[in-house]
Amino acid sequence: MSEHAHEHEQDEDAEQAEGPSDEERRAWRLAALRLVRQYPDPVLKNPAVPVGESDDELRALTARMTDIMRASHGVGLAAPQIGVSRRVLVYGMRDDDEVHVLVNPELVERSEETEVENEGCLSLLGGELSIPVERHVRVRVSATDAAGEPVDYEAEGLEARVIQHEIDHLDGVLIVDRAENDERKGALRELRLRSV
Ligand SMILES: [Zn+2]
Repeated sequence: MSEHAHEHEQDEDAEQAEGPSDEERRAWRLAALRLVRQYPDPVLKNPAVPVGESDDELRALTARMTDIMRASHGVGLAAPQIGVSRRVLVYGMRDDDEVHVLVNPELVERSEETEVENEGCLSLLGGELSIPVERHVRVRVSATDAAGEPVDYEAEGLEARVIQHEIDHLDGVLIVDRAENDERKGALRELRLRSV
């Protein structure tokens, strides 16, 4: 999932901070986005397969996904988005350095309460398309982490939204599939015009 609206804020911060310049950040972002499969790549429509035991290959995959997510200014990334059809996702909130890895995640509880907010997706015009999507406000997720240890916790608000967005990717579902009819038509038109 992308968080395009915050980009300006981050660019301004970067001007004052030591480290990479704005230009370098933009170059890294473009390089990272080239590694993210774009609509209508068929890998985005396929349900991903469950992962077996945790191994070095899985740890390498999640490290690579984390790098690409961070460099492309995303808040979440699912393995199919880099062409790997396995049930793995990573996400990290902006106000928190921690990156969460969920392997074979399942939503075991969903609140009845839902809300509609705009979402972007790194696989839809690199995050530039924004579509209102209805999501459960709170979810409980059960999965394993990169080391194969079980995790089970509740999330709400933006974190719950990101988890639902990324699990959708593992089921081959995109935000255009979740949108209301009119929004969906507009988004598909935009994608047809601008996708290469
Ligand atoms: Zn996405």
